[in-house]
Amino acid sequence: MKYLPDRIGLYIHIPFCEKKCRYCNFYSAFISERVYKDYFKALLREISSWGEQTKSAVDTVYLGGGTPSLLRDDIIPLMSAVKESFNVLPEAEITAECNPNLDLNFLSLARKAGVNRLSFGVQSGNDGMLKTLGRTHTASDAKAAIKAAREAGFDNISCDLMIALPHSSSVTVTEDVNFICGLSPEHISAYILKIEENTAFYKAKDTLDLPDDDEAANQYLIVCRELEKRGYEHYEISNFALKGRQSRHNLKYWMCEEYLGIGPSAHSFLNGKRFYYKNDIKAFINGEPAVFDSLGGDKAERIMLGLRLSGGVRLSEFKEDITDKADKFIKAGLVKISDGRLSLTNEGMLVSNSIIAEFIL
Ligand code: SF4
Repeated sequence: MKYLPDRIGLYIHIPFCEKKCRYCNFYSAFISERVYKDYFKALLREISSWGEQTKSAVDTVYLGGGTPSLLRDDIIPLMSAVKESFNVLPEAEITAECNPNLDLNFLSLARKAGVNRLSFGVQSGNDGMLKTLGRTHTASDAKAAIKAAREAGFDNISCDLMIALPHSSSVTVTEDVNFICGLSPEHISAYILKIEENTAFYKAKDTLDLPDDDEAANQYLIVCRELEKRGYEHYEISNFALKGRQSRHNLKYWMCEEYLGIGPSAHSFLNGKRFYYKNDIKAFINGEPAVFDSLGGDKAERIMLGLRLSGGVRLSEFKEDITDKADKFIKAGLVKISDGRLSLTNEGMLVSNSIIAEFIL
């Protein structure tokens, strides 16, 4: 019998930005009126078509980008289409990513459309650093946006913070943590800057004055310590949340649960299969279907993803006795075992890829 998951997450990609940030290699294009209109029409077409094929209830919706706050009042017909096409449960978590310099009218429109969680790309509280990153907002934009979001009724807000930035130090990272915590978000995602190919930072990498690996690790551990001290649970390598405020949508990725992604570059894991839309807005507008990638959800994948979470993985999930392998990491303070589960320590999370590789190979 075909496996149909009871509940899935729905991801919708809004692939437009006003300006490309210097570090970013996400799939997004400069917004133009004509392409936007064609894209929006195509998005509604795909939503309706997937809705006809999908029986599962949707308990999380995530509008990611790009810059979903550029949808402005189109958030209303977009979310109506989602709700008409899918069985979106009343208790669904519905998130929209926002740029802190958004048109503040978007906030009440999003609320009206049923969005109940916002994720702001704050990144830093230092205007000079924001400029270096190529962001279009300032620290005071971030404060104003979050204040306006609270006034619009949002009680579940996440902020992104970037670590290991050019010219950064333990002092600047502590200032950034203080700034973000001053915004009182329920959730914080903290990412170590990675210099990706095809970005402005990649071209300029030799002149960026980036911290070395030891300093980057030091900054990460400062963030972990400071956020934990303030009551944020470190529940995934890059994610921290107040009690009960983890991202339910993103947890699906790490718990190997199923989700459907719509839009160019969006990935899906549905009915045991992984597939994705090409990084190509035009192809999406022209109705090119998603491409099959692989079967998903095997044991190795579940371990690989589960070890990203602070709860780790049950020892019984591993196909062999891993005591010896675990021992050397436990002695090095990188791994811990408790209540029959193996998980990474904060130090282990810094080198998660190599530890995870040893456990699944
Ligand atoms: S706003 Fe977000 S998606 Fe757009 S360029 Fe900047 S980081 Fe990338």
